Amino acid sequence: MKDIITAISTAWGESGIAIVRLSGGGSRDLVNSIFRGGEGLSLSPPRFMKHGFILDNEGDPVDEVLAVWFRRPGSYTGEEAAEIHCHGGTVAARKCLELCLAGGARMARPGEFTRRAFMNGRIDLAEAESVLGVIRSRSDQALRAAVKCLRGHFSARVKSVNDDMADLSAFAEAGLDHPDEDIPELTPDDYLHRLYEVAQRIRDLLSSARSGRFLREGIRVAISGRPNVGKSSLMNAFLEEARSIVTSMPGTTRDLIEEVVTHKGVPLRLIDTAGIRDPGDLAEEEGVRRAMEAIRDADIRVWVIDGSEPITDDDRRIAMSLRGSCCIVALNKSDLPVALEIDDVKDLLPGHEIRVTSAATGHGLEELKDLIVLSVSGSTSVDEDFNTTERQVEELRKALELAEGAMDAVSSGAGLDASLEMLSRSRKCLSRILGTSADEELLERIFSGFCIGK
Ligand code: GDP
Repeated sequence: MKDIITAISTAWGESGIAIVRLSGGGSRDLVNSIFRGGEGLSLSPPRFMKHGFILDNEGDPVDEVLAVWFRRPGSYTGEEAAEIHCHGGTVAARKCLELCLAGGARMARPGEFTRRAFMNGRIDLAEAESVLGVIRSRSDQALRAAVKCLRGHFSARVKSVNDDMADLSAFAEAGLDHPDEDIPELTPDDYLHRLYEVAQRIRDLLSSARSGRFLREGIRVAISGRPNVGKSSLMNAFLEEARSIVTSMPGTTRDLIEEVVTHKGVPLRLIDTAGIRDPGDLAEEEGVRRAMEAIRDADIRVWVIDGSEPITDDDRRIAMSLRGSCCIVALNKSDLPVALEIDDVKDLLPGHEIRVTSAATGHGLEELKDLIVLSVSGSTSVDEDFNTTERQVEELRKALELAEGAMDAVSSGAGLDASLEMLSRSRKCLSRILGTSADEELLERIFSGFCIGK
């Protein structure tokens, strides 16, 4: 039975053109039945635009269009497909869509074109998800990282680790199942060594993949410090310097002072906590609670201190509360005479990085931003990274945990069997990334996030 899906794939509203897309065996004939132009679409070679008109049931032209068809498997979905490029605006495109529906197609569900591409083996699940990454990219870097996934670079690395794990399991299992046969022996040390390598590769992959969240949602930076050290001035200096200010980010909280700037393509969500003081009334109490929450949930805290004044009790109190968190120090007002040495600060917050800055002159701000990105993502630029989804990161995290568990099982004496079982579960996580063992619920969850027509 034919199952032709159709949808308007371009955004609604007034525009130059709109594209009605169809996919499924018989798409070409369906379009041909409502199309008039030259010898028709049926005799036109695939991938050639054909000029003509879409006709309604009375044979009256609805719109002047270009139509094209794609032969299986050389289409987006991997099956026969067609497109009608009509005029933009809601009526012309809707009319064309209605005629396709009347001709036997059904409305596509969200993401169904991409889902078909996946089901037909044209792309794997990670590549399918990266389509969404491309659509939603908000910076050049995010786009580049998403296109890298779309081109299969992320999948290739996941697959290569998965293959190595499969080899290792097969080798170890052969030794277990046929101890008498002439199979080269895999000593526990060899096995552990190879497992260690596999775990390391998952760890590397995880660190390149984590940037995906930062590229999409930005790094949350809480700027804290006692009053008058220059928190607001630093924030303003960042904003003035920033050539591109990202105006809207998902989840940007408007009731906190939050501004977004991009640094080398990574959005930095700067949260000024200057407003945190003893709450005067209930509304303010709620504001303080949210600000505290923002500091707690931030990816990193920048503690600003005034280098032109000696350390105060307030500074000491704040330093105590920041110990052990991901935090860097801005020793501000470097343009003024120094009353405070770096070593004094090091004692207050041991082990944390310090940068000398001046919000007034701009000194040290680039270094500070570099350090923010470095501290959170592990590198000052994310050029080598992948724009992955939370789901993919979560699967990688689980895969790593299980691979480490598989190592522990051997070294703690729980046995090779237990270790291999964990290795097999670790591989399942990687398979779920690629979609080689994806269940219906997972696919539904992923593709329902797409728009209709994609
Ligand atoms: P906040 O209360 O921590 O937000 O501090 P502000 O940003 O409001 O700054 C307090 C005062 O310090 C203001 O008068 C600023 O102009 C001044 N200030 C801030 N940063 C610098 C700096 O780097 N150098 C100098 N000379 N003054 C600064």
